Amino acid sequence: MADNADCLFCRIVRGEVPAKVVYEDDAVVAFADLNPQAPTHVLVVPREHIPDVTQFGAYPPEVIGAVMQGVAAAADQVRAPGGFRAVANVGPDSGQSVMHLHFHVLSGRRLAWPPG
Ligand code: 5GP
Ligand code: ZN
Repeated sequence: MADNADCLFCRIVRGEVPAKVVYEDDAVVAFADLNPQAPTHVLVVPREHIPDVTQFGAYPPEVIGAVMQGVAAAADQVRAPGGFRAVANVGPDSGQSVMHLHFHVLSGRRLAWPPG
């Protein structure tokens, strides 16, 4: 699927909007969240414009596999020793505000469960 010209995260992937990139590979770019909710709060986004996880079935398994391996590699690189949470919001009840798939990687403090 083509890049979305107006999509904020596509623009970050293309380097048109500045971001503090902490990890990248062929499938994903990971950058610091502008409004961090933990000492480490990174967003891992596919280079390709995938709207959210509900669309995974529309892509070849190797594409989705590469994205998820990128999420794992980015999380393992930025995580604190105590662990991390990787979450992808979908829809208004979850708080999703950017319609380009992104996994939040939160680490560096004790995270509440269940989440608020
Ligand atoms: P969502 O609510 O869609 O799951 O998460 C979107 C995230 O993107 C939020 O945590 C928000 O702080 C972050 N965000 C929004 N705009 C920008 C931006 O321009 N740059 C960066 N680095 N993060 C952003
Ligand atoms: Zn996009």
